[in-house]
Amino acid sequence: MPTTAQQIDRVFAAIDAATDEMVDFTAEMVRIPTVNPPGDAYEECAHFIGRRLDDCGFAVEYLTAEGHADHTPTHPRVNVVGLREGMTKRPRVHLNGHFDVVPAGAGWTVDPFGGLVRDGRIYGRGTCDMKAGITAAIYAAEAIRRAGVPLVGSVEVSGTVDEESGGFAGMAWLAQQGRLSADRTDAVIITEPTNTDRIYTGHRGVYWFEVTTRGRIAHGCMPFLGVSAIEHMGVILDQIRRELMPALGERTTAVPVKPDGARHATININGIAGGQPIDGIQTPCVADLCRAVFDRRFLVEEGFDATRGEIVELLERAARETPHLIYELRDLMVVHPVRTPDGASVVSSLERSIQQVLGRPALLAASPGTYDHKHVDRIAGVPNCVAYGPGILDLAHQPDEYCVIDDLVQSTKVLALSILELTGTL
Ligand SMILES: [Zn+2]
Repeated sequence: MPTTAQQIDRVFAAIDAATDEMVDFTAEMVRIPTVNPPGDAYEECAHFIGRRLDDCGFAVEYLTAEGHADHTPTHPRVNVVGLREGMTKRPRVHLNGHFDVVPAGAGWTVDPFGGLVRDGRIYGRGTCDMKAGITAAIYAAEAIRRAGVPLVGSVEVSGTVDEESGGFAGMAWLAQQGRLSADRTDAVIITEPTNTDRIYTGHRGVYWFEVTTRGRIAHGCMPFLGVSAIEHMGVILDQIRRELMPALGERTTAVPVKPDGARHATININGIAGGQPIDGIQTPCVADLCRAVFDRRFLVEEGFDATRGEIVELLERAARETPHLIYELRDLMVVHPVRTPDGASVVSSLERSIQQVLGRPALLAASPGTYDHKHVDRIAGVPNCVAYGPGILDLAHQPDEYCVIDDLVQSTKVLALSILELTGTL
């Protein structure tokens, strides 16, 4: 029997009625300072979420990343998963949120861990990134229960650790344990902040690499007798600036990355060091060593092999054209891009839900940075995954981070509608 419009109204009414409860729950979570690094108070926060899941009728399980290098007696890596089965086990929709937060940093005018509620906003580190998202996930499912709508498939909500540092003891761990897999999961929504009406369908790739140039030391009054590693790094930087950067700027992904500037391939120079330390006593020497670290963000259309190949070619050409230029290239980190496949049900469902709740079309975008989506796609093998949740992405990691309470309520309604649809209830 399909869900009626009256039943949907009852679900929305249950969310409105739970607003204070949702605000309190979010504020309480913010008061647990789950700062990463080093990964403080994870166990406490996992159990806090677990108790609420239990109150909301979920079967709760704690999954500790035993054996993982980051899991230590002082900083245990504890994840929590709640499952509520409907009339059938499948389809199963999994909603995930990470409960680690980045350090508060400077510039706050309120207590970053005070959970202050003022002027329709909840303030504190992790409100939008992404404890409000965890609240939205739990209460979207709970409102369906309170409205007395019987679920067909099942809904799962997880709170995980370490997303800010790569998610290896969190979402990657759950996927490796088979707790999140194509065998048991049909759709995944990561409730990261996406400005209430955006759906993030993946992210660009990341390639961090280090280039070292080696020269030959000589007296600084006769630099022609040496080989300057700094000058040679300058040759490479010049090629990057004159040739590579304009070429990257011309490449635009078909994926609508927001903000618009991030639709292109980019390269940033993270740092550079060469020759004598600037603050030390100076002696007249030609620099025999220079190192620089680069952050190349590549498009799904480019692919990693071509991205790296282009860098190698640029370096090779610099070496060919410049006498005595010797370089080394070292890969530091590679994250391949992910993209939700066209026609994924999680996307079309959220599009419909956003239109129905907000009365405007959803904006499909890809994230400029990387997040746990990659583990769901690559390790769990569930490509039917997106990020959608309350909070303004730009406020993430900023001082005076906040989440607008009305956004939290609206996003929870969107999620509730999509849970109904993705579990086959609607
Ligand atoms: Zn986040």
